[in-house]
Amino acid sequence: MEIRTRFAPSPTGELHIGGARTALFNYLFAKSMKGKFLLRIEDTDLKRSNSSLSEKIINDIKWLNIPWDEEIVFQQQNQNEHKQIIDFLLEKGLAFRCFSNKEDLTATTFKADKLRGTVFRSPWRDRVVMDQPSMQNVVRFKVPNDPSQINFIDKIRGDLSWDLNNIEDFIIARSDGSSTYNLAVVVDDHNMKISHVIRGEDHLTNTVKQLLIYQALDWTPPIFAHIPLIHNTTGEKLSKRDGNSNLVEFKHQGFLPDAMLNYLARLGWSYKNEEYFNLDQAISWFTLEGIGKSPSKFDIKKLLYISKKHLMAKPINEIHESLLRYMEIYKNINISESCSKKLRLFLPFVVERCATLEEIFESSLFLFEEENVRVKKVLVLLDDSSKKILAEFVAAIKPISLIWNSEYLNNFINTYCQKNNLKFRDIGVPLRIALTGSTSSPSIVHIMEILGKKNTLDRLNQNID
Ligand code: GLU
Repeated sequence: MEIRTRFAPSPTGELHIGGARTALFNYLFAKSMKGKFLLRIEDTDLKRSNSSLSEKIINDIKWLNIPWDEEIVFQQQNQNEHKQIIDFLLEKGLAFRCFSNKEDLTATTFKADKLRGTVFRSPWRDRVVMDQPSMQNVVRFKVPNDPSQINFIDKIRGDLSWDLNNIEDFIIARSDGSSTYNLAVVVDDHNMKISHVIRGEDHLTNTVKQLLIYQALDWTPPIFAHIPLIHNTTGEKLSKRDGNSNLVEFKHQGFLPDAMLNYLARLGWSYKNEEYFNLDQAISWFTLEGIGKSPSKFDIKKLLYISKKHLMAKPINEIHESLLRYMEIYKNINISESCSKKLRLFLPFVVERCATLEEIFESSLFLFEEENVRVKKVLVLLDDSSKKILAEFVAAIKPISLIWNSEYLNNFINTYCQKNNLKFRDIGVPLRIALTGSTSSPSIVHIMEILGKKNTLDRLNQNID
């Protein structure tokens, strides 16, 4: 059997971190088994779906570098197939037209029934077609009364059984004739020959409904694997309220795709004690058995730790390119060729202090945004005595024709300190504040070298006045 998995997002919102993880697990599993990973956009709910969101989701998957096989399937295009199956189920008496209106639903049909509990059983489920009025209706699946239980094996959770008394006669076609999610998914998964459906645990009741449809159609269902949800630090389901819940937020914060993939893979899946790895390693190690049974906790500190490792392992030229792209897209900043060169020279000193592109950006901004330095609050730390030290330093270094590199600058400052009975930090701290607008930065002599003599002295003069 060819292993075929799919990621099937509904374009009703941005790609959630849980969705990104589902896509990744489906991809890893398919590739670990030399199978195919497919992408299907579930855009049948016309009221809630939106084509620009489809595009965003597709771009996010691309950004993560998760490649899919075959053409993307847009579920809307399969509507005829969905309708044929709905008609077939109606014909066979496995589904029925339901004319219950809102009042019926609330007043009568949800009322507690000692045998069946409170779940909805439509009064129309056993009515003959002749009796049906010609008015608006939906099509519902006729949930069997007997057997009243369904059993299935979940690849992660093991043997599961579900009481069908808890499953309502669910809608498979809306009043406009369009198919609902559960019917469309079964038809599409069947037609796309999906062998394994790996998705969040919140879909368990959908799985039960879908299995009932597979049974009714006499189709072999795929193998199901339900992944435990992602929780926030307080143990609730990770949601919008937690801030960082959509992939786009992490893109904005300058996380690299490799780091995101690595962290997402570790959210609920493990292989030995491996924490830091790349996609190919994950493919070679991935098994469904490696997925845990309990919810995983989203931990930003861990993500930052993984991110830092990926950043440090990346060649500086690649970081430089990623950073320029990041600044253009997320900060709307296009820098000149000469600034870009300065930035490139600065990167080796700053990367090891940062975990994301945003942090590198923040620490490098002073290089090309001089005005920004001048408005920094920290400049108040330059009191009169620091200003005096700086003024004397400028007066001493300006006339000297010194080779302007970090080594000579370092020697110069050391000798200057000895002569003037100063410690290196007496001059280093005000220099750092005046040149970068910050109290922490990589070595000040490297910064002076990168800025060049003129720019260094100009900045110092500005802050002495
Ligand atoms: N469109 C569904 C969702 O976004 C897909 C669920 C499934 O994988 O079947 O939740």
